[in-house]
Amino acid sequence: MATVIPAKRAREGSRHARKNRRVERAKQLIRNYGRGEWPPNQDASSCTLYLGEYRQLLQELNGGDMLNGRFGHGLRYDYTADNRGKDRKRRKQFVVRIPTAFHLFLPKTIEETIVQWIIAIREGRAQCGTGACPQNCVHNRTQEVAKYLMPYYNGAPIRISALAESDKKHPSLSYMLEDREIEDNGLDSDDSDSDDSDSNDLGNNNLDNNNLDGNNSDNNNPGSDDSGGGGLRFPGLVLEVGWSQTSFALRRKCEWYIRNSNGEVRTVIGIDLHDLYQCYPKSKTQPNGPGELADIQATNEDICKMAKAVKEKKATGKIFIWRAEIDSCTNRAKAVLRENSPHVFLDEDLKPVGEIAFLLCLEDFISVRVLKKIGATHNPQVAIGSKLLHACFKSAVVCQVREGRENEMKKNKEKSDGGGLTG
Ligand SMILES: [Zn+2]
Repeated sequence: MATVIPAKRAREGSRHARKNRRVERAKQLIRNYGRGEWPPNQDASSCTLYLGEYRQLLQELNGGDMLNGRFGHGLRYDYTADNRGKDRKRRKQFVVRIPTAFHLFLPKTIEETIVQWIIAIREGRAQCGTGACPQNCVHNRTQEVAKYLMPYYNGAPIRISALAESDKKHPSLSYMLEDREIEDNGLDSDDSDSDDSDSNDLGNNNLDNNNLDGNNSDNNNPGSDDSGGGGLRFPGLVLEVGWSQTSFALRRKCEWYIRNSNGEVRTVIGIDLHDLYQCYPKSKTQPNGPGELADIQATNEDICKMAKAVKEKKATGKIFIWRAEIDSCTNRAKAVLRENSPHVFLDEDLKPVGEIAFLLCLEDFISVRVLKKIGATHNPQVAIGSKLLHACFKSAVVCQVREGRENEMKKNKEKSDGGGLTG
């Protein structure tokens, strides 16, 4: 019954198998994600996956539907075909993002503050940013922009081309102006700062008149003509949280959004917790008995350990804000750090610093190109409080320590059970 495989075919077969091992590894990461088997203390798990292999993965998984469906529910992943660091060495291209408590809590809290502010603008209860309105802002266009500004919490991946295998990243939080005509419904404002009333589209242009080959992110230049995103849609503002990833990696990621959207992503907020992560206890204190009290004691002990390390290392929590700056000669966007950035919002005593962690204006959420088309707003401001982020960070630490300890205990039990069987 045994079939004899000719030597050449067998060799090809093994070569094929070797080539596919990376695809299988990527699938394994996704499966592990779906089962909640996440690497401990990490905010990502990644593997090498070259472009051809990524195409194969997408084909085998039947495209994005499967990736976000059966395989990995709520999966967020990044793909960067030519992922090189400072040393020009290729980094792992396929990155599955692990939702740590920090990635869930901080964007959620910030989003809650921003949504209240957006509602206030819509309802004419927000303070005017320019002082043009005597009290609260009642400027039509400002209210209209607020009406069509939509949050995407863990929602919308950002791609640099329309191809399935496009480089992509999946931010924690982003805001996009809906593709509507802002000044319809007879709500055109009567002031004189609108200079371009004949063109109200918000950047959703035809796909076909643009180069979308997307093989090389450096050659891919969305928005280099007047098309905005080369037919792609980009959010105006993106927020990222860095925990186990280095400050350098977080910076690269934040700059990526601005560069690859050619400034359609106007503002990127990077919450850099990496110094604090380095003080976080990687192996947790085990409770000295059953019950909730022992559990709370063990958690407190780990939090004290962390606080001590934070003080020793003078670690802080920082917020970086980048904005897009368009070079007038090349017409290309680069990421520039905003003034007073980075800002320390959590000090080495793990206490909030000052009242305000960061400030945003309405126009920070909209690309310069789109803003030119719809005209200036009265640009109201929102402040995200340091105390709020501090409280949020504290609950995230408790949650993360508890979850980490549960997983460690589970793993230890599996190990000792396994040891019992073999011994
Ligand atoms: Zn106003």
